[in-house]
Amino acid sequence: MARVVILGSGFAGMTAAFQLRRKFRRGSHQITVIARDAHFLYRPSLVHVAFGKKSLKDISVPLAPLYAEAGIEFLQTEIVDIDPEAHTVSTQDKLVYYDKLIVALGERLAFEEIPGLREFGHTVCTAEGAMKLRQALDEFGGGPAVVGWAQNVQTGGPAFEVALELNERMEKQLLLGSITFVDPLPKLWAPAGEKATQLLSQIFQERRITRLGPVQIQSVHRDHVVLADGREIPSVLTIVTPPFRGEPAQKRLAQNHPRDWLETGRDMRAIHHPDIYVAGSAVAFEGPKQGHTAMLQAEVAAHNLALDLTGSAAPRREYDHEMSCVLDLGNGQGLFVRRSLWNARHQTMKLGRQWPWAKAALEYAFVNTPMFNKWAVPMSKISL
Ligand SMILES: Cc1cc2nc3c(=O)[nH]c(=O)nc-3n(C[C@H](O)[C@H](O)[C@H](O)COP(=O)(O)OP(=O)(O)OC[C@H]3O[C@@H](n4cnc5c(N)ncnc54)[C@H](O)[C@@H]3O)c2cc1C
Repeated sequence: MARVVILGSGFAGMTAAFQLRRKFRRGSHQITVIARDAHFLYRPSLVHVAFGKKSLKDISVPLAPLYAEAGIEFLQTEIVDIDPEAHTVSTQDKLVYYDKLIVALGERLAFEEIPGLREFGHTVCTAEGAMKLRQALDEFGGGPAVVGWAQNVQTGGPAFEVALELNERMEKQLLLGSITFVDPLPKLWAPAGEKATQLLSQIFQERRITRLGPVQIQSVHRDHVVLADGREIPSVLTIVTPPFRGEPAQKRLAQNHPRDWLETGRDMRAIHHPDIYVAGSAVAFEGPKQGHTAMLQAEVAAHNLALDLTGSAAPRREYDHEMSCVLDLGNGQGLFVRRSLWNARHQTMKLGRQWPWAKAALEYAFVNTPMFNKWAVPMSKISL
C-alpha cells in the first residue's frame, strides 16, 4: 500500500484527491490531503462577496466531512517544508511521509513587493480581502479609483469584473469619480486574444473606465498610486491584485526559480523529482493561472501518478494549456472565452446574456452538488 499525499485543497488539490479516490479501490492506497483551510472557497465568486451580492458561506464547502465520507485522510494544518530526499512533508503538527506527492499549494500574494499595497490597497483574491473591500465600498462616497493588477500577477479576470462592478455601483448610487485601470500586459486581456481585447476595450470606453497600460506599480498611498515610470494617479479607492509568488513551503523544491514556482513536464511531474507531481497555480507555466487550468492539470497529474503506482503501460496523459472563463460584464451580459495557449486547437469567444447564468450554474454545481467535489466529474468533460 502506497501513501499518496496531496498538499493543498483548492481547485487542484481537491480535484487530484477525488480523481485518485475514483482510480484506487478503497484500501489499496492511502490518500492524505493536507491544507491550512478548513473550507474549500469558490474564489471566482469573491467579487460578488465584495460587492455584497453573496456571503462567504454561500461560496464555501467544509472539507472534513467530504473527505471523511470518501475515505480520504484530511489534516488541517500549516505545511512548512517538503524534503524530496527524505520523502517527507513537515507541518506545524507533525512530519508526514509520502511515497507519491502532489503539490497544489496555489499562489502566495506578495504584498511586500509593493510598498503601501497591504495598508492602502484592496484585493478580492482572499476571503479577508473581499470582506475588507466590502466595508470600504459601503463607506465609499465617490472619488477617483484605481483598479487592476500588479506586475507578476497571472490571474487578470477578477480585476476586470471589479472595474465593471464598481462602475455599475457608482452609476446606480450617482457617485462621481473616475476609474483608472492599470495592468502590465502589452494589451488589455492579451491572453484572451485580439477580439476579446477589442471588445473589452470598447466596453471600458463606453463605461468610461480608462486603461493605463502596460504599467507597473511602484507604491500605493492613501490618496494616490505611484507607477514605475513616476506618474502619480489620484485614488481614494485602490483595488489592485498583488504580485503572485510560490508558497514558501515549496521553496526547497523550487530551487532557484525566481518566483518560487515549480517546474514540470507536460505530464505534470516535477522535473527533478519523479515521485512528485504539481498542479494549479504552484506550477511554473507562463500565462493565466485559473481554477480551470488547475483542475485540468490535477486530472493529468492524478492519471499519471496512478499509472506510476500500478506500473501500467497505458499511455500517460499530457496537459494542454488552455484558458477558459466567463467575464461577467455587470449589465446582464457575459463574455465567454476559451482559448488554447500552446496551439490553435480552440479559439472561442461568445457574448450573450446566457453566460452570467452559466457562470452562476457552475458555482452552484461546485458548492452545492457533489458533481465536482465528490463524484470527481472532470473539468475536461464540462464544456460551457
Ligand atoms: C476573485 C477571483 C476570481 C477568479 N475567477 C476565476 C474564474 O472565473 N475562472 C477560473 O478558472 N479561475 C478564476 N480564478 C482563479 C482561481 O481561483 C485560481 O487560479 C485557483 O484558486 C488556483 O487553484 P489552486 O488549487 O492552484 O490554488 P488555491 O485554490 O489557492 O488552493 C491552495 C490550497 O493550498 C493550501 N495551502 C497553501 N499554502 C499552504 C500551507 N503553507 N500550508 C497548508 N496549506 C496551504 C490552501 O489552504 C488551499 O487549500 C479567480 C480567482 C480570484 C481570486
